[in-house]
Amino acid sequence: MKLSWRVILLWTLPALVIGFFFWQGAFSTSPMNMGNNTASTRMTYGRFLDYLDKGRVQSVDLFDGGRTAIVEAVDPELDNRVQRLRVDLPGNAPELISRLRGDNVNFDVHPPRNDGAIWGLLGNLIFPVLLIGGLFFLFRRSSNVPGGPGQAMNFGKSKARFSMEAKTGVMFDDVAGIEEAKEELQEVVTFLKKPERFTAVGAKIPKGVLLIGPPGTGKTLLAKAIAGEAGVPFFSISGSEFVEMFVGVGASRVRDLFKKAKENAPCIIFIDEIDAVGRQRGAGIGGGNDEREQTLNQLLTEMDGFEGNTGIIIIAATNRPDVLDSALLRPGRFDRQVQVDPPDIKGRLEVLQVHARNKKLAPEVSLDAIARRTPGFTGADLANLLNEAAILTARRRKEGITMLEIDDAVDRVVAGMEGTPLVDSKSKRLIAYHELGHAIIGTLVKNHDPVQKVTLIPRGQAQGLTWFTPAEDQGLISRAQILARITGALGGRAAEQVIFGDAEVTTGAGNDLQQVTNMARQMVTRFGMSDLGPLSLESQQGEVFLGRDWMTRSEYSEEIASRIDAQVRTIVEHCYDDACRIMRENRTVIDRLVDLLIEKETIDGEEFRQIVAEYTEVPEKEQYVPQI
Ligand code: ADP
Ligand code: ZN
Repeated sequence: MKLSWRVILLWTLPALVIGFFFWQGAFSTSPMNMGNNTASTRMTYGRFLDYLDKGRVQSVDLFDGGRTAIVEAVDPELDNRVQRLRVDLPGNAPELISRLRGDNVNFDVHPPRNDGAIWGLLGNLIFPVLLIGGLFFLFRRSSNVPGGPGQAMNFGKSKARFSMEAKTGVMFDDVAGIEEAKEELQEVVTFLKKPERFTAVGAKIPKGVLLIGPPGTGKTLLAKAIAGEAGVPFFSISGSEFVEMFVGVGASRVRDLFKKAKENAPCIIFIDEIDAVGRQRGAGIGGGNDEREQTLNQLLTEMDGFEGNTGIIIIAATNRPDVLDSALLRPGRFDRQVQVDPPDIKGRLEVLQVHARNKKLAPEVSLDAIARRTPGFTGADLANLLNEAAILTARRRKEGITMLEIDDAVDRVVAGMEGTPLVDSKSKRLIAYHELGHAIIGTLVKNHDPVQKVTLIPRGQAQGLTWFTPAEDQGLISRAQILARITGALGGRAAEQVIFGDAEVTTGAGNDLQQVTNMARQMVTRFGMSDLGPLSLESQQGEVFLGRDWMTRSEYSEEIASRIDAQVRTIVEHCYDDACRIMRENRTVIDRLVDLLIEKETIDGEEFRQIVAEYTEVPEKEQYVPQI
């Protein structure tokens, strides 16, 4: 058993303070401890008067403003021995004093114990009380007792930064739009609530569940809901918090976490971002990270160390299951894996319903319509959207959230805060042409998503924006669609160049070009959509330091590499030529639309199409309309 200095301190301090009490007591004048003659025996007032009558009283010392007296009296029953007795007196003493004087009794009056003394005592006490209180507080915060990320007095010692919620208060009803995941996890609740049912037939209860999905899809929420439904405590920590500068800290955090969890079983341990600690060992630049590996090893040891039936279930979340160390995925560890995807349109509607519960919506607001407008939004995005709309509503002093606020909130969630409109200038004109370049291609190229609106109002990083009605994610995208997107993304630069000339093109297209290159490269290396043929030459791109990816990056020769580059260039050049051609062919309508855009700042998609249709044929777009 190791006793850290903190524990010793905690034990010695109360002792010091108690000692302080006694020390205080020894100096205070009280009738109970006059010198070493302590009058421990009491005498009643009546008896005292009786003694006075009989002349047995030799001396009287008055205390407490005459409310207490220590009396020396001769007791005939005890061979006339002199006794010191304490008497509580009924009230003021003048009469008694005149009586004592009359009887020639020795008496003395001791100054009343002034209240200042009490305050003084209290004042003296406040310091140690505060001191010990403060120490206790610090100790609590920094100790394993969950309750905060405190780390005072945490000099290099391992202190878990996990948090515990005794009751999460989250139920499955609060999680929407991820039905499959919910169904899979329903069983985990039963593991926690009725383990006997499984152990009775010899079943081993799984220890770990891995939730896989992008951020904001509700993985934390799900884990909390499991704890909430089962009525068990919820411990949580983030993988990135395990990984510290100092070797050994992470590992001891894991140890502390499991120790605490065992004391509170049955319970849920939730490890967010487990990939931060659970990455493939021995990978990455520089041969891996000692600290991380120690932490991971400790985690594996702890998981193996408890039986599946102790009532602890570990739920971990990640977006990168591919980089996880295979040891984590072995049976008996995180052998259950549950995919948590962004919701589809029906799921989005359900999430909106959950979050609209406590919001005031105007009657005309249709959650259905919002769900339709928000493909790709995660649960967190939708929650954020409704909250932004509510804030806007309050700011505009309206009774309930209207579609106007919803639209503004969607824009804000997608593209960031709106800035102040640009002043009319040459650069505003150039930005208008740039955006119109995107929009005109979006309208005239058949496989492009339709234009929703064009704006010249800055938002986030962008000076102007062209909004496209997002297609519901159907999972598959055709070659023609990707080419249309590349052409559309090049539309901005093409417009700049065709209208203002080579010398005037701007940096505004930087972001567009990045996307273009990405899409074209993936066509060649991942989707087999080039003359190189149906080959997968690269796995999903990822950061080098993630380890595994690094090894798989170049599975091809130098020669193939240069052929990839050539193919990418061909695709982009071809699309760019197309874009420039469209600009030249539609110069008249573009000029007219630019004037309109500068005047109005926003052109709606429908109006845009009508104007273009006056000049040229606008292809019908068939967009997949999902059923709710
Ligand atoms: P993750 O852990 O997957 O990153 P969170 O669980 O932290 O996501 O989600 C953040 C917030 O977004 C939640 O607290 C909740 O308000 C909202 N949210 C996310 N997904 C859902 C969902 N499926 N149903 C309801 N709300 C959700
Ligand atoms: Zn652009």
